[in-house]
Amino acid sequence: MAGSYLPVAGGPQLTRHEVERSTALRTDQDWLSKAWADPATRVLVVEDGQVVARIGDGAAELVFVSPEQAPDGDRFLLGVDSGEVAYFGVGGPLQTAEGVAQEAAVGLDGEVSIRRAGLREAGVLLSDRDAGLLTHAVGLANWHAVAGHCSRCGAPTQPEMAGHSRRCTSDGSEHFPRCDPAVIMLVTDPDDRCLLARNVQWPKGRVSLLAGFVEPGESPQQAVSREVREETAVIVSSVTYASSQPWPMPHSLMLGFRAEALTTEITVDAEEIEEAAWYSREDLRAALVSGELVMPPSLSISRWLIETWYGADLPGGGISGVIPPG
Ligand SMILES: [Zn+2]
Repeated sequence: MAGSYLPVAGGPQLTRHEVERSTALRTDQDWLSKAWADPATRVLVVEDGQVVARIGDGAAELVFVSPEQAPDGDRFLLGVDSGEVAYFGVGGPLQTAEGVAQEAAVGLDGEVSIRRAGLREAGVLLSDRDAGLLTHAVGLANWHAVAGHCSRCGAPTQPEMAGHSRRCTSDGSEHFPRCDPAVIMLVTDPDDRCLLARNVQWPKGRVSLLAGFVEPGESPQQAVSREVREETAVIVSSVTYASSQPWPMPHSLMLGFRAEALTTEITVDAEEIEEAAWYSREDLRAALVSGELVMPPSLSISRWLIETWYGADLPGGGISGVIPPG
């Protein structure tokens, strides 16, 4: 019998957004030129997945620069907010943004630190507007950083569509941002216990849901069944979609599913999974309170899925770290 899934506050963290993407403006060269000439335009500089942020106690905000202050680099339109402010991203060095933020902070008291941060550190601390802008910007910047040459002929490529595609300067082929679909699944057994596993690369006690990449020629639901069988030998049915979130680290889309186990005996694939077990809500709570287990970070869709099963926020803040699909 399937358990009931109680709503937890909001959806997965990285689905938060506020700024309209304004896709129609991506080909409007006049508007793009005017927006870039406007000192009110806000530019988010991204370098190696990191931006400059003001981080205080339990909250953070992004540091933007004006177009004039932005470094050279691949530029992309993130969107326009309800106050008609345009937001761009630029892939480039962060020194200028750091300088701008330090200058603006002169005279303020020292409760807030200005530093480089990525999604893992700042993601849950940002406002909806900033979380959406950062997720969008990091995804595009990660792609531009590796898409400078044509995958067909090796010639240089140039950004188009306000940085949302690139075109080969030799054969004219068009290239779009790469996004790798991965599935992550909350598997429950007939007693409504949840299957949690520890990846071989994780420290003792760190557990999460099973996950893996969708292969070519495979639906996400088929990937769920295959990955669970490969990693634990458990057979599942009733695979249903729950939610998803972008995970641009560097370019995944996490598709969250629920599945019901038809078998409960576990045999782990020791190459990827070190150990796996079924947990009742009471078992899990006790293991978290005692410190025996540590949950995935609040930023992750795995944490969100587990909490929809648990029916409430789980004790323990979770630790930052890699959630490698596979
Ligand atoms: Zn080419």
